[in-house]
Amino acid sequence: MIDLRSDTVTVPTPAMREAMASAPVGDDVYDEDPSIHALEERAAAMLGHEAGLFCATGSLTNVLGVWLHVTPGTEVLCDVDAHIARAEMGAHGALTGVTMRTWPSAHGKLQAAEVAKIVSPDAGPYLVSTACVAVENTHNFGGGTVQPFDELEAVRDLCRDLGIAFHLDGARLPNAAVASGVPLEEYGRLFDTVSLCLSKGLGAPVGSVLVGSAAAIARARVQRKRLGGGWRQAGILAAGGLYALEHHVDRLAEDHAAARALADAVAARAPQALDPTAVETNIVALDTGTVLATEVVAAAGALGVRVGTVGTRTVRAVTHLDVTHDQARTAGEVLGDVLARADQAA
Ligand SMILES: *Cc1c(COP(=O)(O)O)cnc(C)c1O
Repeated sequence: MIDLRSDTVTVPTPAMREAMASAPVGDDVYDEDPSIHALEERAAAMLGHEAGLFCATGSLTNVLGVWLHVTPGTEVLCDVDAHIARAEMGAHGALTGVTMRTWPSAHGKLQAAEVAKIVSPDAGPYLVSTACVAVENTHNFGGGTVQPFDELEAVRDLCRDLGIAFHLDGARLPNAAVASGVPLEEYGRLFDTVSLCLSKGLGAPVGSVLVGSAAAIARARVQRKRLGGGWRQAGILAAGGLYALEHHVDRLAEDHAAARALADAVAARAPQALDPTAVETNIVALDTGTVLATEVVAAAGALGVRVGTVGTRTVRAVTHLDVTHDQARTAGEVLGDVLARADQAA
């Protein structure tokens, strides 16, 4: 089986397991775990912020990040395909008490003008006031797209002028940095808070980090405990995350090349399914046309290639640390054949 459902499926490398096994640990609820401190300090420094908070998931770091900036009854703006809106089980509404309003986006690409059209700070006694704008980089459901830096800067300026907070769902920010050449820190400095996943392309088994000001992270730590997210000797996990930050960032270029090889192999057989030149990072979105995405997933699965759906007619393949370039190309051939046959049958 070649498993391309997500870059979360990686298992720790022997060297990462070694780092985890020998990690010094303590009780993190008492703020005494040295491995967690090392990870939090490293992540904050890499992203140009004062402090970090290690959490179990990216959903939790997004919930805490947004929570810092809002009060119940205010709104968060994001794009229509944002992970915070679609894939966090309504947590921001259910737990934080915000509503969300979304701007449209093609392939998740940010256009500051779309944000400017709907932003509504200090909206008075009849309308909901915007408290926070959130963007995603790279954009997951958009197909691993990298946000244009000038658009990010324009939204940052807009937020600053209007006194609104700016949060980044940077689950795959290292992919964006490697693909664009823009350093992590330059992206990080645009935002009040950044959420970064260690368990995606970076290949750690568990965890995400939220970074922000020292005061903001101190508040987030209390809210994490309130939500039941305080943990004890989690330094064993943090050590895997720190290893990933130190050793697995630059190699993401290999995943991007593998995704492109997969996309090229699909396009050679089923050109209607995608534009391979639009593949920017490690995610390939395939348009299944007249057949259901679930049928393509089943047919590819029977041929040894596991992929997932992100829409009724969109299949997603994600390259990662545990698939080789050749396996990615082979998977592209299989997916291309399946899509070409489906197209002929239709
Ligand atoms: C994976 C992901 C998250 C966090 O997911 P968890 O499964 O909660 O760790 C957040 N945002 C994006 C864009 C993601 O891809």
